[in-house]
Amino acid sequence: MRHLYVHIPFCHRRCSYCDFSIAVRRRVPAREYVDAVLREVALVRAADPGAVPWGSPEGGFETIYLGGGTPSLLPTDALVTLLTTFRDAVEVTLEANPEDVTPASVAAWRSAGVNRVSLGAQSFDDRVLQWMHRSHDAAQIGTAVHALREGGIDNISLDLIFALPSELGRDWSRDLDRAISLLPSHLSLYGLTVEQRTPLARWISRGAASAPDDARYADEYLSAHSRLAACGYEFYELSNACRDGRRSRHNSAYWSGRAYLGLGPAAHSFDGRARRWNVAAWEAYRRALAEGRSPVETEEVLTDEQRELERLYLSLRTAEGLSLSDLPRPSPSLPVWVEHEWVSLREGRAVCSPEGWLRLDALVRDLTGAAGGVNY
Ligand code: SF4
Repeated sequence: MRHLYVHIPFCHRRCSYCDFSIAVRRRVPAREYVDAVLREVALVRAADPGAVPWGSPEGGFETIYLGGGTPSLLPTDALVTLLTTFRDAVEVTLEANPEDVTPASVAAWRSAGVNRVSLGAQSFDDRVLQWMHRSHDAAQIGTAVHALREGGIDNISLDLIFALPSELGRDWSRDLDRAISLLPSHLSLYGLTVEQRTPLARWISRGAASAPDDARYADEYLSAHSRLAACGYEFYELSNACRDGRRSRHNSAYWSGRAYLGLGPAAHSFDGRARRWNVAAWEAYRRALAEGRSPVETEEVLTDEQRELERLYLSLRTAEGLSLSDLPRPSPSLPVWVEHEWVSLREGRAVCSPEGWLRLDALVRDLTGAAGGVNY
């Protein structure tokens, strides 16, 4: 396991669309959190001392990803304690909200080993940010990017959300232009989804917001591809684009099916054969570790069929696509997809176009012969 994900679950408030496993806290219980994670580290080490490379002579993890929640809320001494335990990695990413990025925080993160920051920008329209219940405004995104660069962290990713309800009047192309003008090395674009038990789901159910619209989703997704490609960005995965080859090494490990360890509440781990995940609630996670119990809630050993399906799906998400020799059986659908320009065949691989990525679930169902394939 050369890839480590650490879930830091705390946020000051919940965004209107978010159903992530978070704990809303005015004050982050940093000491309790670090204690709990270090106890989990000790349990993982004791269970299989060779599985994880911390402290090994060959070096530590290849990538570490501190995700959340809002990891940038964690005080820097707590972050230093965690990263010192895990040792250096080639890529150390911290998810941050723009309002937490200051010259002092950047200096501390950098000296702790962070060399990549993923900023939750989401939009450059203040009205939209308020609707999302974000705790930053548009100007703070640019200020954060400049502070990161000035402080020596220039591997910066911006998250943006598209396909917002039409009544917001969000200008997607303007937001893309604002993002591109900051010259981030990486962009992650996510279509708005409506999750149960979120403020957004309640607004939609009482008619206060319109439901997502597939046509708008497709328009904005495809326009982002053209705009970013024209500015030198490569979509190396369905939702992720970078310039100068600065892909996320951590997320690329997920997409290529490599093993990873997850620590923290709700974190998932995968050893190449089985997937397991921790209890999601912060208090349940903390209590389990305080009592010396494993926080793992469920372990699932993947069947050959599940692994096959996952491999198809993950390969087709990427710009490298799926090797035709990995197809479970000859697919009568492939020539039709090529004809529709959803897929191209290159050097023995099937590679999705943006139009293909829009239909990815249906394409995979076609390949596996499952119901609900592409509607031609
Ligand atoms: S900051 Fe991120 S994790 Fe926290 S509520 Fe907002 S979207 Fe969810």
